Amino acid sequence: MSHSVAEHEPAEVTESGNANGAGIDLKWLSDRVEYGLYQDCVHCGLCTASCPTYVMTGDENDSPRGRIYLMRAVVDGRASVTEKVRHHLGLCLDCRACETACPSGVQYGKLIEPFKVALEISADGDDRPPLLLRILLRHLFPYANRMKWALIPARIGMKTGLIPIARSLGLTKLLPKTLQRMEEMLPPSMPLLPPAPLPEKLEPVGKKRATVALFTGCVTDAMTPETNSATARILQHNGCEVHVVAGQACCGAVSYHSGDENGAKAFMRANLNAFDLSKYDAVIINAAGCGAMLKDYAHLMHHDPEAARAAAFTAKVKDITEFLVELGPVKPANRVEAKLTYHDACHLCHGQQIRNQPRQLLGMIEGLSIVPLEETEICCGAAGTYNLSQPEMSRRLGRRKAEYIDATGASVVAVANIGCQMQIRYYLDERGGSHEVVHPVELLDRAYGPLPGGTA
Ligand code: SF4
Ligand code: SF4
Repeated sequence: MSHSVAEHEPAEVTESGNANGAGIDLKWLSDRVEYGLYQDCVHCGLCTASCPTYVMTGDENDSPRGRIYLMRAVVDGRASVTEKVRHHLGLCLDCRACETACPSGVQYGKLIEPFKVALEISADGDDRPPLLLRILLRHLFPYANRMKWALIPARIGMKTGLIPIARSLGLTKLLPKTLQRMEEMLPPSMPLLPPAPLPEKLEPVGKKRATVALFTGCVTDAMTPETNSATARILQHNGCEVHVVAGQACCGAVSYHSGDENGAKAFMRANLNAFDLSKYDAVIINAAGCGAMLKDYAHLMHHDPEAARAAAFTAKVKDITEFLVELGPVKPANRVEAKLTYHDACHLCHGQQIRNQPRQLLGMIEGLSIVPLEETEICCGAAGTYNLSQPEMSRRLGRRKAEYIDATGASVVAVANIGCQMQIRYYLDERGGSHEVVHPVELLDRAYGPLPGGTA
């Protein structure tokens, strides 16, 4: 469905046409966004049907075209950042489905991401996220070890049944909203203690075909470490020597998206220092959101003294599925009997244009019956920390996704991002389902089977 801009001109722009002061630091923004990127949008509207927020609200201000119009109006001085402008831009998931849909090649992520950072920096009073959320975003989520410690009470609560009892009595509703959302997303089966970290070096099975570094991430490492160990094992089965590099840090996405650009750059520099690229054929990542961020280092640091190293780093980053397909995957030996559907994580399919590789690898597994998922490329509502900052829209999208998954009749859902995994599991459980929600590497791991004796 296409609309003309005249028909759907965002109301805020006309309301505040001659506003004094943009409400954000335009100089900061112009140092990071080339003006031509706004001009790439020709307002054709071909992206609107792919935009989850527009699909849900039908409001042009919640569409890619409307948001580009709003951002450009602010930059041009035709509008200021009103509460409504903040609302419509804040509601964007940064899922980048609009980039996939856009025939004009609009690089929407390069517009909205710095713009949202500028909004965060300029926010005060009620515009700011709750204090607790800010503390968690800055001081907990980007640190895998802190997360592991912080999760111990939750692990005990789940293991002893205290959390399920508290839920059934409605006691969890007494928690602050942010903690309520986090508690809801806890995986149902967490071991009491976090598993031991992976060894620094893991040997390949058979003849060595590549040497790779595994980027373990922070949330994945703390919440679903089994995804990292499965990733390491399938790499070993495919003849890779796997290094788990000490000193690696968060990719920086959580800090960046919460408005802490300096904090994000500190993480990026820590990673540039930790990975000696001369030793590795690739840096492997299994979380779509972190992968998109790691591949963005070159862009985000292009004015930085470390620009050349950032570009070299970006060039080596590969999603696990992308890497295995390029390497030529070894066929797994074992059958996995299941009816499966696959959800495309936004930062894999839109952010990295990786769609076929996970399907190709899953297709190698004998016994798996893979059924298509309606709206597979529409965001599930997790979107990094969106489920904490925009719980209402996140809930609507989570329920919609769960409904479509239920309709497939699949008992297993594969999705290549930890945030989506938690979100989808929660909304399937809410419907009373008993689905297994896994990363594709876990299914491949089952299909490859245990490592031959003697392989570390
Ligand atoms: S973002 Fe692309 S598809 Fe959407 S209105 Fe602009 S030019 Fe058209
Ligand atoms: S990033 Fe996603 S939510 Fe935001 S405008 Fe594009 S399609 Fe819509």
